[in-house]
Amino acid sequence: MSCPPADLKKKSDELLFKWWTYLKSPEFEPFVEFAVCLSSFSDFLQNLGLSGLHQLAHQLEQKVLTLFDEVDRHQMSVDALNDLCNQIESLGSRITQFIDSNTRPMAQRRETQDTAPARSLNSTQRVWFIGNSASSWRALMTQLAYFGIQAEPHPWKEVPCKAEEPSILLLDTHDMALATACEHIKALRTRFAASKLLVYTQQAAFNSVKAMLRAGCDFCFAAATPQSTILARIIELCSNEEEPPYRVLVVEDSLTASKSIQRTLKQSGIESFAVANPAEVLNGLRQFQPDLVLMDMYMPDCTGVEATRIIRQHAEFLSTPVVYLSGDGDMALQVDALRLGGDHFLTKPFNPVLLNAVVKSKIERYRALRHSMENDGLTGLFNHRTIKEKLNAVIDEASTSGKQITVAMIDIDKFKAVNDSYGHSTGDQEIRSLAWLLKQRLRKTDLVGRYGGEEFLVILPNSDFNQAFEILNRIRADFSRIRHTFEERGFTSTFSAGVSHFPSTRNAETLINEADQMLYDAKLGGRNCVLTRG
Ligand code: GH3
Ligand code: MG
Ligand code: MG
Ligand code: MG
Repeated sequence: MSCPPADLKKKSDELLFKWWTYLKSPEFEPFVEFAVCLSSFSDFLQNLGLSGLHQLAHQLEQKVLTLFDEVDRHQMSVDALNDLCNQIESLGSRITQFIDSNTRPMAQRRETQDTAPARSLNSTQRVWFIGNSASSWRALMTQLAYFGIQAEPHPWKEVPCKAEEPSILLLDTHDMALATACEHIKALRTRFAASKLLVYTQQAAFNSVKAMLRAGCDFCFAAATPQSTILARIIELCSNEEEPPYRVLVVEDSLTASKSIQRTLKQSGIESFAVANPAEVLNGLRQFQPDLVLMDMYMPDCTGVEATRIIRQHAEFLSTPVVYLSGDGDMALQVDALRLGGDHFLTKPFNPVLLNAVVKSKIERYRALRHSMENDGLTGLFNHRTIKEKLNAVIDEASTSGKQITVAMIDIDKFKAVNDSYGHSTGDQEIRSLAWLLKQRLRKTDLVGRYGGEEFLVILPNSDFNQAFEILNRIRADFSRIRHTFEERGFTSTFSAGVSHFPSTRNAETLINEADQMLYDAKLGGRNCVLTRG
């Protein structure tokens, strides 16, 4: 939800402009432009987690897609047109309302997030528990606070009207009839455009859940769901990271074609960089680091297939997707092109909706693949190899910029006893809790990796040593208060950490060894502490 309102305003203005352009000349082409813009707007809202607004935009998008045939024959019915006008107007006014109520606080948040040493200093995630039995949620609210998530209870009759939207609303409807619950959900969905609506309910049968999802909730918990599951879900939703924009390298000798491709991609929020000469493709890949290459088939001196074979000679680009664009629909050629290292074939003139859909789905898969190679399956943190690579990259950067880095090695205390007493899966859950805690409480620019079983490596670039120590120590204290659950019982646990510092220590291996040595001393000294040299 950290979208500057100016971006949202710009995007929604673009959409309205496309709609007006279509109204002025109700032809197929402007309708396609509007549809592409709407589809990208809907993705944009979803990526920002603006759940309520996304639901509206998505409904509108579905409607628009069903009208393609009518528009193609230039005879959209008056009813259909009025209906669209109403939906667009209602989406527009909800967006204006949302921008008005969020302009100031959001701008402030962005500023503090970028400069504060840690998110815990100014919690940005808020959860409201709406219901009439606050006491049953008290323990869960306390636990959330340790993760830096601020939780407030509100009785049904006293839901604040004028307030910044919380990230999550948890509606306790366990004592309500289905129809009443749905009315409440609908009313809150209208008021809270950006929040995720979670519902705690006795009515977990298929049709009841369907009704509540239709009314606008995002997720239903059946009344028997343990609070630890709800806690896990809330933390997961709060730690959703914004994805950086998709990046595409366009290799195309015709300037007109590449401009038109770049324009289409831009409408979907996809960044692109074009090279006209295939000999520049490797440079383009290294400098722009794209998620995908759109490759023209026919270029002077070198075909797209040849350029792709050259790309595939380089290990680091072996899995980068290549999509061919060609004016030629020749099936044999397409098959050959795919055999020789391509991933997909599109013919020119391209359909912009299809082009964007193909590009996005290929990039999604590519990113998922890269994520599974670079991240640890249990925690989602960087894996051992990746966090070490990141440390080297951060050191390179700091060596030129003259900035400092703090490195910490963290290890859960007496973890073997947790496994022995409560079982391996409870142990896994504790490892996950610590991972979430670290992610939730550190800055976006900090890097966290799972270094080994119950061992984590944390890199705090550009951080003052004392501030880094302070935040790690505070996380340590909060971790020791978290109640991990095993069956109906709860237990607590602690960690120890060793800290090292750049430029006092200059290379990655020595930084890690020194942090490790400090960690060893912390264990010898009795555990549950953060140690640094001196
Ligand atoms: P210390 O305070 O000295 O760190 O004691 P410890 O018991 O935490 O240290 P030790 O290194 O002896 O034990 C770590 C245990 O962590 C041993 C191993 O079985 C367990 N472990 C490693 N990876 C995982 C995992 O992914 N899940 C679970 N549940 N346990 C793991
Ligand atoms: Mg060409
Ligand atoms: Mg340990
Ligand atoms: Mg260990």
